[in-house]
Amino acid sequence: MYHSVDDGAEDPYDITVPPARLERQLAWLGRRGLTGVGVGELLRAHAAGRSRGLVGLTFDDGYADFTEHALPLLRRHACTATVFVLPGRLGGDNAWDADGPRKPLLDADGIRAVAAAGMEIGSHGLLHERLTTVGDAVLHEETHRSRALLHDLTGTPPAGFCYPYGAVDSRAVRAVRAAGYAYACAVDPGPLTGPHALPRIHVGARDTALRLRAKQLLHPLRRPALPEDV
Ligand SMILES: [Zn+2]
Repeated sequence: MYHSVDDGAEDPYDITVPPARLERQLAWLGRRGLTGVGVGELLRAHAAGRSRGLVGLTFDDGYADFTEHALPLLRRHACTATVFVLPGRLGGDNAWDADGPRKPLLDADGIRAVAAAGMEIGSHGLLHERLTTVGDAVLHEETHRSRALLHDLTGTPPAGFCYPYGAVDSRAVRAVRAAGYAYACAVDPGPLTGPHALPRIHVGARDTALRLRAKQLLHPLRRPALPEDV
């Protein structure tokens, strides 16, 4: 689970990985025989019994720096990824991070360019709302309308959703499923773990090879495995 890829000192939410660090992390994957792919592709491969050697890469929020910094590195390492964007904040910024540096988000053309570059576009909702605290009308808008807007924008209905803040409960899962998404990403969904609440590992600027190895080893202990038939 990545967010922004950029240089820059101020990062109170630990959401920024410098390009040089991402380069080393992708090289680490390659040395271990792993290829980064979007989550939709990973799940299709899992269902077909051929997901060995694949790892899902996600970039939340749809920062504009994806195009400049992440895309060339992913290409160089023959990886793809899922980018979870906010169609309610096209060309806006991460205004929801009160203390963080403002970072520009992809606009409509930027999202289309990322899709054209072979990346999967998923929905992060409309405005980055915490779905466990919103009313029914907002929950419906964030899940259904964001999907419709991305369908219009890219020509393809997005298969994936990503819960802002990783905040998920059974009501949010039902809304996401009803909106037609095939899967959804969380962070630590605990007993909700399943195709519409997938666990992920946060990857940050401090994640050296040693720390990545530790996270890889600890992941199955900290998070339940997906059922075999997912
Ligand atoms: Zn987010």
